[in-house]
Amino acid sequence: MDNMFNKKIETMSREKIKELQLKRLRETVHRVYNNVPFYRKKLNEKGVKPQDIKTLEDIKKLPFTTKNDLRDNAPFSMLTLPLEEYIELHASSGTTGTPITVCYTPQDIEVWSEVMARCLTMSGLTKKDVFQNPIPYGTFTGAFGFHYGAQKVGALVVPTGKGQSERQIKLMKYYGTTFVSGVASYILHLGQVARDMGIEPNDLKLHSGLFGAEMFTKELKKKIEEMWGIDVHDIYGLTEMCGPGVSTDCDEHDGLHLWEDHFLVEVVDPVTLEPVDVEEEGELVITTLTKEGMPLLRYRTRDISKLYDAKVCNCGRTHVKHAPVKGRSDDMIIIRGTNIYPGQIETVLMKNPMVGSNWRMIITREEGMDQLTVEVESNEKLDEKTKKNLENLLRDEIKSIITLTPRVVVLPPKGIPMEGLKAKRVVDKRNTH
Ligand SMILES: [Zn+2]
Repeated sequence: MDNMFNKKIETMSREKIKELQLKRLRETVHRVYNNVPFYRKKLNEKGVKPQDIKTLEDIKKLPFTTKNDLRDNAPFSMLTLPLEEYIELHASSGTTGTPITVCYTPQDIEVWSEVMARCLTMSGLTKKDVFQNPIPYGTFTGAFGFHYGAQKVGALVVPTGKGQSERQIKLMKYYGTTFVSGVASYILHLGQVARDMGIEPNDLKLHSGLFGAEMFTKELKKKIEEMWGIDVHDIYGLTEMCGPGVSTDCDEHDGLHLWEDHFLVEVVDPVTLEPVDVEEEGELVITTLTKEGMPLLRYRTRDISKLYDAKVCNCGRTHVKHAPVKGRSDDMIIIRGTNIYPGQIETVLMKNPMVGSNWRMIITREEGMDQLTVEVESNEKLDEKTKKNLENLLRDEIKSIITLTPRVVVLPPKGIPMEGLKAKRVVDKRNTH
């Protein structure tokens, strides 16, 4: 078994991929120029006509699209077709401001199912699996993307939806779940819940999991693998592209293959917007190549990553790989003039076997000075002396990475409240009174 859903496409030669990309890029530019006033105006301002796109390099002539552009045109002004041609709508959570709305034609749903099926198959899903989907079904894209993809593979989907952790564990046992999806921090939480119920996660029938929707360090992955005894894969995507399904890591676990027949990726310096070199970090910028209903040109994802040199992977796939997303450039926080990504702190915490499943950072301002407090749960209840030693150890290790001394507070298991499904890693209290 080679873990491929669409071998012909997944192993297509680089030359053929580029040919296909150019053809589809040109179609996309024509499509938006003719149907979306926003793009027509932007292209006219730059003096670019669709026929000016003659090579893939010409993508540099095209305008960027930002989250704000989508907000300004929400909910339906970025669409290429009359609303009656669409069959589904999703929106980003929109914790601040207007949510971003995306509409799908039947063909868009088909493409989304296909890329998700490739990601799931790459992670070990087959039609023999019982697939549990503990993600909220709603306007959020996550649950539906996994649902459609798993059905396309032919697995038996158990749409458990959001929350109710004890019920999730009971159903895993009852139906003999073999494959699970969701958010990495939630699966760690579920493992803790299983143990509280007297069930060792390792004893359940699961063999693999595919998780996404938040920053995902190697150390967190390892922790899930150990707790659940499963093979863990990382999926990347965003509502603006389709939802999850843009890329996933193969069994080499060294970068995520991005489906280049549907997405054209660039990496740019987030300040100058100039392209960076291969293997150099920057912001992922993605152009949709097959979106019918709401194509996007050079969409600035705000996600920081880097591309690996495109060559045939040991798994046989030819599609380019990118590093796991280091963080949203929006997630970067500046404390006393130092740039810090939550992922840097998580890397330190998750390496320690005494650390439990949840953590967060709290930033305050005291007497004009920024203070960073890292709260972290321990694996089990600790005596006072062990707790102090662990706090000191973690403080020193974090300091060596971020060159700033935090306060570290170790809390008992479940000492940090779980709000919603995604972990809230950063609580910034500096601008609240
Ligand atoms: Zn590979």
